[in-house]
Amino acid sequence: MTEPTTTSAATGPGWAQRYGAALMNTFGAPQRVLVRGEGAYVWDADGRRYLDLLGGIAVNALGHAHPAYVAAVTEQLGTLGHVSNFFATPAQVGLAEKLLALVTPGGAPAGSRVFFANSGTEANEAALKMARRHGGAARPRVLALEGAFHGRTMGALALTHKAAYREPFEPLPGGVEFVPFGDLAALEAAMGDDVAAVFLEPIQGEAGVRPLPPGYLARARELTSAAGALLVLDEIQSGMGRTGTWMAHHLPHVGGGVVPDVVTLAKGLGGGFPIGAAVALGEHAATLLGPGQHGTTFGGNPVAAAAALAVIGVIEDEGLLAHVAELGTWLREKLAGLGHARLAGVRGEGLLIAAELTEPVAAQVAAALLDAGFIVNPVRADALRLAPPLVLTTAQAQSFLDALPAALDAAGTRP
Ligand SMILES: *Cc1c(COP(=O)(O)O)cnc(C)c1O
Repeated sequence: MTEPTTTSAATGPGWAQRYGAALMNTFGAPQRVLVRGEGAYVWDADGRRYLDLLGGIAVNALGHAHPAYVAAVTEQLGTLGHVSNFFATPAQVGLAEKLLALVTPGGAPAGSRVFFANSGTEANEAALKMARRHGGAARPRVLALEGAFHGRTMGALALTHKAAYREPFEPLPGGVEFVPFGDLAALEAAMGDDVAAVFLEPIQGEAGVRPLPPGYLARARELTSAAGALLVLDEIQSGMGRTGTWMAHHLPHVGGGVVPDVVTLAKGLGGGFPIGAAVALGEHAATLLGPGQHGTTFGGNPVAAAAALAVIGVIEDEGLLAHVAELGTWLREKLAGLGHARLAGVRGEGLLIAAELTEPVAAQVAAALLDAGFIVNPVRADALRLAPPLVLTTAQAQSFLDALPAALDAAGTRP
């Protein structure tokens, strides 16, 4: 997997020290310094090539430097790069229309509206503000699931379950309660006419690629409708084709045909350019946030919108939804069939996959894979996450399957 080392300005000692001296230490030490990418591969500063099976955490839908994507972004930047939201642009309007067409099979119901943000956490902030506006003083409660990850800004953090993320920043916006994952009886018991919204990930990504059990979303829809609460689906990681359908909740065994009230998107939406969206569905959507009640300088910026339109266009033109469904099924079957003693099972849909390990050695396996030229993510101590570019080929996936057993073996011998 190693190409001849090239001399470049990026090569040489000192990156780790410079990073450590200049950047806030929120992410730990970076594993490599990456300098370029093409398709499903990236290269580090020493010229080594890696198969990128994480895709910038489910972001690089088209891989790296896809020509149609680069052309669209370049063209937009060379034409009109930014205007404030006092003005509209064709790219922004076109993207909103496109999202309304694909967020629900057959198109969004009449009255649906899009709010553009710049990231996942901001999309959820917008959704939380919609929930507050919907609920008012009569509905102070918001429900989320144990294991939920909805972002790191204060509102989205209030919806995020992990204590280590939340507790240093309390008090957080109030009213959020967590119910056990996948437990419909618990959701039913927590539900009431004082609930403004229920936030759900159809597949919990950060918790280790955990799909909601079949039937859960359909029942959650019934319960929220009966109580008059919003059903907010966070498809930030699972949406935009990652599961072989535009949205994870379009998979019949996941979504059961539900139409949520709000869908939040980011990650794969921009294919690497920062953009998020909160799509409100149905006739009351337009009233959830009114003039002056929310805003953003950059949200829906024409370059970001052009990037997202290019992502959607390439997914359509290259038939990537069918490709993801097919390759995802193949890869999950092959993983499950590897028969390695350290592999306990496989979870996920499409190209959002977790390989479950029998021991908490995911970090060591990921490190061994990185040394072998493969980027994966130890999402849990006992699970590896794969969220590769949707353009990954079968041959590339096979090269990973070929390398995995040795990395699993090596884990036991690493410190
Ligand atoms: C990544 C993620 C977020 C937060 O998105 P950012 O762009 O990192 O703010 C929210 N929800 C889910 C499900 C995510 O995977």
